[in-house]
This record gives sequence, structure tokens and C-alpha cells, in this order.
Amino acid sequence: MSNNKNLSFESKCVHAGIGEYEFGPVVPPIYQTSTFKFENVEQGGKLFKGEASGYIYTRIGNPTIEAMENAVAELEGGYKALGCASGMAAIHTTFVTLLKNGDHAIVSKSVYGPTATLAKDVLSKFGIEVSFAETSDLEEVRSMMKSNTKVIYVETPGNPTLSTTDLKAVSEIAHQNGAKLVVDNTFMSPALQRPLEFGADVVVHSMTKFLNGHADVVAGIIVTKDEQSYKEHRKMLNQIGGTIDPFNSFLVHRGLKTLSIRMKKHSENAMKIAEYLENHPKVKWVRYPGLKSFPFYELAQKQQNGAGGMISFELKGGLSAGIKMMNSVKLAQLAVSLGGVETLIQHPATMTHASMGKEARQSAGITDGLVRLSVGIENVDELIADLEQSMS
Ligand SMILES: *Cc1c(COP(=O)(O)O)cnc(C)c1O
Repeated sequence: MSNNKNLSFESKCVHAGIGEYEFGPVVPPIYQTSTFKFENVEQGGKLFKGEASGYIYTRIGNPTIEAMENAVAELEGGYKALGCASGMAAIHTTFVTLLKNGDHAIVSKSVYGPTATLAKDVLSKFGIEVSFAETSDLEEVRSMMKSNTKVIYVETPGNPTLSTTDLKAVSEIAHQNGAKLVVDNTFMSPALQRPLEFGADVVVHSMTKFLNGHADVVAGIIVTKDEQSYKEHRKMLNQIGGTIDPFNSFLVHRGLKTLSIRMKKHSENAMKIAEYLENHPKVKWVRYPGLKSFPFYELAQKQQNGAGGMISFELKGGLSAGIKMMNSVKLAQLAVSLGGVETLIQHPATMTHASMGKEARQSAGITDGLVRLSVGIENVDELIADLEQSMS
């Protein structure tokens, strides 16, 4: 993997993580096995002591999984990565690796619904205190820091409001106080944003979304920046057990090859759709990082290599108009999830962010009428025609 160092991101997408395998296949074989034979008792013992390299058991390590992990780590500019059974498994593993009883964490208000619920209802069971901050407001983050704050957890752009946090500034706040910055980079993917370059300590992803990109896998990943962090997370993941399997790793690795071109097309289509919506008489407001009217436009230009595929907007007719629209789309599909090649539309208040509760939603700016669009790679004129018919 190190011989890819000087390659462009586009070329890395195609070649990252691919090693040498028996018979010379150009992609890693699927080692669909739970366990690996030892040559003898002595070699097995050495493997367990870490004195020999090789594989023991797929929860601990597997060549197909490692190939995909190496690819994502390389694309994010990290040390090594750990594939997980889902994005939530990755987020859970990171929280419990970095936090213990008596610690405090600050979490972005605008996060994926189940992440908020995990932080609020699960971590609190184990004596971990959580505060939700509008992390785009650095003063608010600073004012919430305590002597026992060990983690700042940021999603940027946040789900679904696209609220954007200055990663460099927030990493400085974390590090001045001895805390770690964890960034959920699902919405951008390393094609459009690489948080480790801005000082983040750990990057997590739902690979279910843009990294795999084809809506046929549920998976997550933790990208670490150094050996110590990798070892700590790896140990925890092994005990918790939320590991990915070889077949899903294979599919994600295949998806990565087109990540660069997919993200360009998602961004290009979404820009045209955002402009179309902004000029539509029935639309109350549109939020998209590529629009000049976006409240964090300057920061997005600085920190991201593109605006991505996610748009949120509200119709003038509010919730009832939004429901009518979502029930009338034909090419776009009414479904949760995002980041696939197909365009998806959904309603956060009753779907992805229902579990947060109304109060937390309002405080995060998730209005009842907010509609979230994950723009796919279809022909953009056909997508616009579909939105047009669904609003008339
Ligand atoms: C989907 C999503 C998650 C959770 O990932 P799963 O793979 O569904 O467990 C976490 N964060 C963000 C931003 C997401 O969109």
C-alpha cells in the first residue's frame, strides 16, 4: 500500500489496499472462512503472542477485511482502520474505547439520530456524561469543556441540517484540554474531506453510505491515526465483537474503486438540484454547502473538496406539502439511508430522527417540514423533472 503514496486520490481509489494473492487475482479473494489452520502448536502459540504474522480467527483478522481496511485508511490518510458490522458499531466501539465511567463527552447537536440516542441513553447507563453542543459555534463548544471532557464528537456537515463545524478550530479546543476529536465523515467521504488532516484523532464512517455507495451493504469503519490508537480500538472491537464479515468487506472494497467519480457526480447533480430548488416558488428554504446562501459556505469551501450529495429543504406548504411531494416522486425513492447511486428522499422528523424526540430535534434545527434528499448519479434533468412533477 505504501507504494501508492505519490498517486492522486483518483488512482488510490482504484489501487488502495490491494495486495498479492495466490494465482495473481487483481482483486482480493473473498476468504469466507471463520478460522485459519495453524501449521503446528508452536506456530499457533506464536500467532497468539503476536510473534508471527498470519491469521487466527476472522473476528480478530481476515485478509479480505484487512485489504478493505487498508484501502480506507490510505484514502483517509490514517494509520490503519477497523471494519465494523455497521456505522453504529463503529461509533459505539470508538465511544467505549475513548471514554470511561466519570468522563464527559461533547457531541454535535446535529448528528445521525441513533448516534444522539446512543450518547444520551446508552453511555449514561455507564456513568458517562454527555452534553450536546452546536459545534459550528466554537464559543459554545469552549464553554462546555470541563476538566473531565475526554471526547468531542463532531459530524460535519451534520445530519440532516448540514450545519458545518470548523475541524481545525475544534481540534485545537479538544487538544488544549487533553480531549480527543472524533469525526463522523459519512456525509463527505475522504474524497471530499479528510478530517485527520485538520487534527482529528479518529474518523468513523457508516460505510453503508458513500464508501460502499451501492445500497447493498450495512457496514462501518474506524480510522485511527497512529499505532497506539489502532491497538486500543482493535482490542475493544475484538471484545465487543461488532466486526465486519469478509463478503461485505469485499463489496465495500469494490465500491471504493469508483468513490472519486461517484462523489464528483453526486456533487455536480446536487448543485444543479439545489439551484433548481432555490429558485422554485414553492420552496421556503434550501440548505446545500455549494450554494452561496449556505450559512457555512466559506468554511465548506475551505475544508471540503466539494459540496457532496446531501440537500435539505422545506416547502412553503410545510409538512403537509412535503408529505405530498414525498408520496409523489417516481424516479427518486422514498427510503432512509443515503450515499448510494440512486436518489433517495426522506422525512427526518418521522423517520431517521424520530428517536431523538421533538425537543432535541427543534434544538438542532430539524423542523417538522424538513425534507432530506440524497442525490444519486442519475441524469440530473430527469431528476429535476421528477421533483417538478412531484411538487405540482
Ligand atoms: C447511517 C449513518 C450512521 C449509522 O450507520 P449504520 O451503518 O446505519 O449503522 C452514522 N452516521 C451517519 C452520518 C449516518 O448517515
